[in-house]
Amino acid sequence: MRQSDVIVIGGGFAGLTAAAVAAKRGKTVTVLSKGVGTLTISGGTIDLLGCGSDGRPFASPAAGLALVDPDHPYSKIGKEAVQAAVDFFLDLCETAGFPYRGNLQEMKWIPTAAGTIKPTCLVPKTMDTAPLAETDMVYAVGFHCLKDYYPHIVAKNLQKLPGYDKTYHIAMVDPRFTAGRDVSALDIARWLDTESGRQDCIEQLRNTVKPGAVLLLPPVLGTRPDYQVLQELEQAVRCRIIETVALPPAMTGFRLRNLLLDHLKSAGVRIVEQAFVAKAIVENGRCLAVVTQNSDRERSYSAQAFILANGGFYGGGLLAEPGKAVEPIFHLPVKAPASQTQWSNPRLFSREQQPFAKIGIAVDSTLRPLAENGSLALENVYIAGRSLAGYDFCFEKSGNGVALASGYQAAMMV
Ligand SMILES: Cc1cc2nc3c(=O)[nH]c(=O)nc-3n(C[C@H](O)[C@H](O)[C@H](O)COP(=O)(O)OP(=O)(O)OC[C@H]3O[C@@H](n4cnc5c(N)ncnc54)[C@H](O)[C@@H]3O)c2cc1C
Repeated sequence: MRQSDVIVIGGGFAGLTAAAVAAKRGKTVTVLSKGVGTLTISGGTIDLLGCGSDGRPFASPAAGLALVDPDHPYSKIGKEAVQAAVDFFLDLCETAGFPYRGNLQEMKWIPTAAGTIKPTCLVPKTMDTAPLAETDMVYAVGFHCLKDYYPHIVAKNLQKLPGYDKTYHIAMVDPRFTAGRDVSALDIARWLDTESGRQDCIEQLRNTVKPGAVLLLPPVLGTRPDYQVLQELEQAVRCRIIETVALPPAMTGFRLRNLLLDHLKSAGVRIVEQAFVAKAIVENGRCLAVVTQNSDRERSYSAQAFILANGGFYGGGLLAEPGKAVEPIFHLPVKAPASQTQWSNPRLFSREQQPFAKIGIAVDSTLRPLAENGSLALENVYIAGRSLAGYDFCFEKSGNGVALASGYQAAMMV
């Protein structure tokens, strides 16, 4: 039996945040995770709260926080803890040499690969749109063979939007891949990680773009959580560069995950990968241990407290079975509409939320799970991230925001 103060189940953004906070509080922490979580493929921005339930954007995340429903995770966590979580995150990134920008008082609107803009709160320096105010000349830059990124669509749609009504040009860079397969952002980022790739890219851009312009790029500026590729390209080409949000895999989330893993390793957190937690040993309302199952054998991990951060339907923290949603480790009640026919809104493109997105585990103000009758289900288990009930991250733009704030708060409670 392996012993820690805190066991975190799940290595997504909620779990890694919880582990970092618990470690900072002096706890011994073990993270058990079967996979990498959505952070690896996600945009890496911290969407705190973009819109209300009517689909209208809030003036700022702080303005939205004041209006959320009582069942929303932010209502349980509280505004002060959300602010503390944001401060913790900004400080961690700054210390790691990969500062993020933004605050709760400002809604940031950032460009996407579709040439639309989306609301968010905290962004890496590469996604800060401030340089756009300094010029009217913009190049939408594409990479030959890169899947799902079309610079002319970015330019055509963006130029219709206020703040983006500039003169657009298209620039194409050829990474000279010959493998004959689809090229993803990860391939381009790895190319730009190399000295020869950066020099080749710089040479091609110098031949096409005029100094003083802003270059809009897909998120490909290296795999590492630093701004070396950004700085080198900006200096050499004498342009400012902004990465757009793009389809997965986006290197912006990948970099953030690498930053968190580096931090956790240096903070002494034990990370057990490919650790599928199959069951829990519970006695008298307390969890004593969880058990991982691999092909060879079972292993038990015991702790004083457990943070369940294993995602929603997508991550594997919730499962849909005929007629019901289940939480497979502790068998906690999952709050869902009574009939499965009510789980989804068939009008996919309407301005209404999807009921299935709000399915999850109901918690009290300490983020501990509630039984069907509203009493505390487990004394020493805390829920963080996507398996929490009461929010539609995709509709309201709050995915990594809820993961950050609940991961932080759960770790403050243990
Ligand atoms: C494609 C995509 C792009 C997105 N982009 C953004 C964005 O740009 N900004 C934003 O704010 N939000 C974004 N989101 C939403 C955001 O990524 C998620 O809401 C948030 O990161 C969820 O984090 P999580 O840790 O709760 O869950 P997950 O990321 O799902 O992590 C769950 C973890 O638990 C592990 N796990 C599951 N079951 C077990 C088990 N039994 N035993 C052990 N481990 C287990 C999984 O392997 C995984 O590591 C995006 C989501 C997607 C799908």
